[in-house]
Amino acid sequence: MVEGPLQEGIVARAIAKGLLDVRVHDLRDFTTDRHRVVDDMPFGGGPGMVLKPEPLFAAVEAIRAQRAAATSAIVLTSPDGERLTHAVAKRLSALDHIVILCGRYEGVDERVRTHLATDAISIGDYVVSGGELPALVIVDAVARLVPGVVGDESSVAGDTFARDGLLDFPQYTRPAEFRGLPVPPVLLSGHHAEIEKWRREQARERTRRHRPDLLNE
Ligand code: SAH
Repeated sequence: MVEGPLQEGIVARAIAKGLLDVRVHDLRDFTTDRHRVVDDMPFGGGPGMVLKPEPLFAAVEAIRAQRAAATSAIVLTSPDGERLTHAVAKRLSALDHIVILCGRYEGVDERVRTHLATDAISIGDYVVSGGELPALVIVDAVARLVPGVVGDESSVAGDTFARDGLLDFPQYTRPAEFRGLPVPPVLLSGHHAEIEKWRREQARERTRRHRPDLLNE
């Protein structure tokens, strides 16, 4: 589930260039029983299964033993975690080593959260079936902020949220008129200062209209 997306696009190129090293581990490799069991029924009853603490602790301990990292985080993916934002991605992008734990079923034993994870991160107020997609979202968002990963650094600096905490300005490409819809003339004017001013205004206006909460932060 996670290996395919890591073989495409910006993240794959960053791995190929040696700017990132991403490893995928199977929790079952850290079990000790014959059936390689990673889940069990919840104490107190109720539907579904819960990921057991032992394989998760063993996995993190084994992975950390292979790596000397000055700064690191152990991130549990969880819908009740801190919301993933540009600021969170930025903080993670400065670390040497990040372990991302993917839950499944009803989630993970709470002791993983309280005594193993350093952070719990949510990708939004909805539930997906496992931590794999959230982990990929975190890897991609964090990787983009690692210097050199996105070829043109100014492209990242100008992205939504990065640029003064505002949404991005609208982008147009050729043709200059499509089905009677013209591109704003200022963009064809060649006046860089005017274009820059228009873009700043558009970014502010869009943010005011679509995400006024960002202006109050
Ligand atoms: N019963 C849990 C949901 C478990 S979903 C609850 O109500 O909170 C199974 C796993 O998917 C979770 O352990 C977590 O790893 C992942 N997951 C689901 N939604 C997520 C979200 N919005 N953000 C991050 N991880 C999420």
